[in-house]
Amino acid sequence: MKAMALTRPAAGVVDEVDLPVPIPGRGEVLVRVRACGVCRTDLHVVDGELADPKMPIVPGHEIVGTVERVGEDVRGRNDGNDLAVGDRVGIPWLGYSCGVCQYCRSGRENLCPHARFTGYQIDGGYAEYAVADARYAFPVPDAYGDIEAAPLLCAGLIGYRSYRMAGDARRLGLYGFGAAAHIVAQVAVHDGREVYAFTSPGDTAAQQFARSLGAVWAGASTEAPPEPLDAAIIFAPVGRLVPEALARLAPGGTVVCAGIHMTDIPPFPYEILWKERVVRSVANLTRQDARDFLALAPSVPVKTSVRRYDLADANRALGDLRAGRLQGAAVLVP
Ligand SMILES: [Zn+2]
Ligand SMILES: [Zn+2]
Repeated sequence: MKAMALTRPAAGVVDEVDLPVPIPGRGEVLVRVRACGVCRTDLHVVDGELADPKMPIVPGHEIVGTVERVGEDVRGRNDGNDLAVGDRVGIPWLGYSCGVCQYCRSGRENLCPHARFTGYQIDGGYAEYAVADARYAFPVPDAYGDIEAAPLLCAGLIGYRSYRMAGDARRLGLYGFGAAAHIVAQVAVHDGREVYAFTSPGDTAAQQFARSLGAVWAGASTEAPPEPLDAAIIFAPVGRLVPEALARLAPGGTVVCAGIHMTDIPPFPYEILWKERVVRSVANLTRQDARDFLALAPSVPVKTSVRRYDLADANRALGDLRAGRLQGAAVLVP
């Protein structure tokens, strides 16, 4: 099969490679990839900002595809993952958790120390085929085409987890208006919240995009919103946004850092944290997040804005994401 893989650590690009079609093991399914979203985490993997990826690694953890083969013990399990040939599934970032550690046993498998992640430790979806543990593959809502569904698998799932961590904020700030924010904004507006969108200074296209999705205000990250925020989610991997967002919060407000990697956070005066303001991160996702969000998305309904690229053009998609040239999400099609 054809795949685009990171073949040298921190190469900054993926290379076209020919690989054998993988064989599903016990409890696994072989999926014919129909579409795979391009996430900022893929950039962190390719650029060497995350430690010790499997090498070589096929990135990609927003996979939509159809089951082509099932391994032993996949049929007849009655655990909601009774997948069959022809089923359409989505494969997200969380590819495995141990099930027995204190985190797994308390509904926090996203923090499992033995967790493994798609497109990082497990070959992902920048390829014609991928193998996944059937327990971590989810039915995709019928309302979405393959390409439109792909961004739901990470921008949607981890965006939604971040959104829940922001609590019941009435005024919600979103820093970095990319794939995740464009989904979260729609859910927040649906929930009757006010969305304030913060972009790079001068990115009027992103600000206009945010307003078109219902943001009541859009401006530069250096600007003050007209009212203090009850919460802010930072999707951009830029540490200086933490004190910028904190300074915009009302007392008791929360800043949620949604990315897996961020540049260093500069020192800031205690005064902007005082009055029970909170800074926290969000790590990965649980399977319950996936079930919850995939049930919610068609009822909002969340509409994803996507730009399609051929699989062979993965480096162009990564480059457009790195340079901030995308509105919504890039999706690769093999
Ligand atoms: Zn565990
Ligand atoms: Zn992701």
